[in-house]
Amino acid sequence: MRQTLVAGNWKMNGSLESIKQLVAGITAGAADSGDTAIAVCPPFVYIPLVSELLAGSKIALGSQDNSDQEAGAFTGEISCSMLNDFGCRYAIVGHSERRALYGEDDDFTARKFAAARKAGLTPILCVGESLEEREQGITEDVVARQLDAVIKLEGIAAIADAVIAYEPVWAIGTGKTASPRQAQDVHAFIRGKLAGLDQGVADKVQILYGGSVKGSNAKELFSMQDIDGGLIGGASLAADDFLAICTAGN
Ligand code: PEP
Repeated sequence: MRQTLVAGNWKMNGSLESIKQLVAGITAGAADSGDTAIAVCPPFVYIPLVSELLAGSKIALGSQDNSDQEAGAFTGEISCSMLNDFGCRYAIVGHSERRALYGEDDDFTARKFAAARKAGLTPILCVGESLEEREQGITEDVVARQLDAVIKLEGIAAIADAVIAYEPVWAIGTGKTASPRQAQDVHAFIRGKLAGLDQGVADKVQILYGGSVKGSNAKELFSMQDIDGGLIGGASLAADDFLAICTAGN
């Protein structure tokens, strides 16, 4: 049985003070979230602080991105070994905002995935279609293409060391959530595609749903057969909202 994982992506939000308060609120309530695994992904500059504040708690730390390179003249980049220095366990790669706003394509995302895995981080690989792509009926083609870039570079076995987050772009930060059935259909497609290559990998890999998850819809989404938790944006910025989602994972 796969453990439910709820990961908060704080994006470029927060301040020194608000992040201290947010972590205090989440750590105080995390014990009530039962068996659900929890992770938070702060902006890079707050990772050392959050790492210290999380010490001794059940909450894991993750990054929102990582360089595909190990070290060197790459101004502005953060390497996976730097993330390791501060105890990061997860690394989000291929978030739709990175793909759409910063032109990060499937191959670049695959190289970031490879770098994270090589450093012992667990990549959270984001995949998902735009509204236009859904309306064209090519959701599965898009998701398959995004997965195939990683499988081609790293092999199917690499997916067993990762987490996949299905995030329909039209549901991110818009308040529009995919219905549990819509989400489950794509999750089942992803697991089925992986099963066609390696049943063991398909059975093991956690597939999270992301896109306007809230305390009020999390339970229904997480109860679907192939949905193993959530990647949470907006609702991860308030401790009570985030904890309500974590509790729904039980
Ligand atoms: C996200 O950006 O990964 C996300 C799911 O955002 P939101 O929950 O705000 O839709």
